[in-house]
Amino acid sequence: MMTSQDIAEIKSLLASPKKIALIPHRNPDGDAMGSNLGLYHFLKLKGHDVTVISPNEFPDFLNWLPASDTVKVFEKDSDNCTAILKNCEIIFTLDFNVLSRTGDMMEAALKELTAPFIMIDHHQKPGDYAKYMFSEPNYGSTCEMVYHFINALGEGSLIDKTIATCLYTGIVTDSGSFRYPLTTGTTHRIVAEFIDKGVDNSEIHSLLYDNHSHNRLQILARALHNMKVLPEYKTSYTYLSQEELNSLGHTKGDTEGIVNYGLSMKDINFTAMFTENKEEGIIKISFRSKDGFDVNQYAREHFNGGGHINAAGGKSNENLEATLQKFIATLANIKI
Ligand code: 5GP
Ligand code: MN
Repeated sequence: MMTSQDIAEIKSLLASPKKIALIPHRNPDGDAMGSNLGLYHFLKLKGHDVTVISPNEFPDFLNWLPASDTVKVFEKDSDNCTAILKNCEIIFTLDFNVLSRTGDMMEAALKELTAPFIMIDHHQKPGDYAKYMFSEPNYGSTCEMVYHFINALGEGSLIDKTIATCLYTGIVTDSGSFRYPLTTGTTHRIVAEFIDKGVDNSEIHSLLYDNHSHNRLQILARALHNMKVLPEYKTSYTYLSQEELNSLGHTKGDTEGIVNYGLSMKDINFTAMFTENKEEGIIKISFRSKDGFDVNQYAREHFNGGGHINAAGGKSNENLEATLQKFIATLANIKI
């Protein structure tokens, strides 16, 4: 947790109305959007002028989150967003550990700012750009940390149904619906409090998971069809080329969660999904593991990425075929 000195300083910063920007990582997920919007509603209640600025567009399956329609998108509207950022007195960065996670364009704009940064994040190896850091990889989600942060400020009673709905969303998505190892008794007690405050937990699960398009299921089918299993390495992997995605009519967010299927097989401890993105000229890679294999370490070492022990991501600038070959070549030298 932050020191009591940090908390006291942040409390005095927030004692009078301020202009505040909140920032998720690029390609924001449920935890990034939930933590930003949860904190957004809290700071609005406290009378601040708050803007959430996402580096790029967030996926459609999160567009029901309260106030998601107010989120500004840096890469769509960079002049206006840069002007807002320059005007801000406090910048919160949520659910990421290094500024490069916001993408080249936004990182450059953020580096120019002189306002203090406050980081709330659960990824390993935080950078040192923030004046105040609440960085703790033992939390399952940034949303759970935002709950503790608001309580540390002595404002827990302000957490209402709207704030709790946002925070509940990130806790659910980052815990794989309460199944990953960092899900604690405290996680469940927080969620119990949210439900007592009126959060419609069942409705949120439906909005998150029973809301897919037919195209998304076709994309899932293709990824399952493409999946390869390497039993000698306890590994599986799959891929989607840009051509496949285009022919199946993909939209942003359609590939979310598909990587987990590769881990649902018996005796498979490591899986990867490779998604070609021709527009960005990269292959985006997702890694998942069970048992002790550390995919954060693996992604850092081999694919210019990072994340958590059992869920990480990375990228490759080579083509899809070369990237898959490189991946397979790494397996011989690691213990899975
Ligand atoms: P996903 O596979 O769902 O995109 O990401 C899994 C986890 O790894 C998330 O916590 C995400 O924030 C993190 N992650 C994904 N891509 C990268 C990356 O390129 N760099 C780093 N440091 N973390 C990543
Ligand atoms: Mn997260």
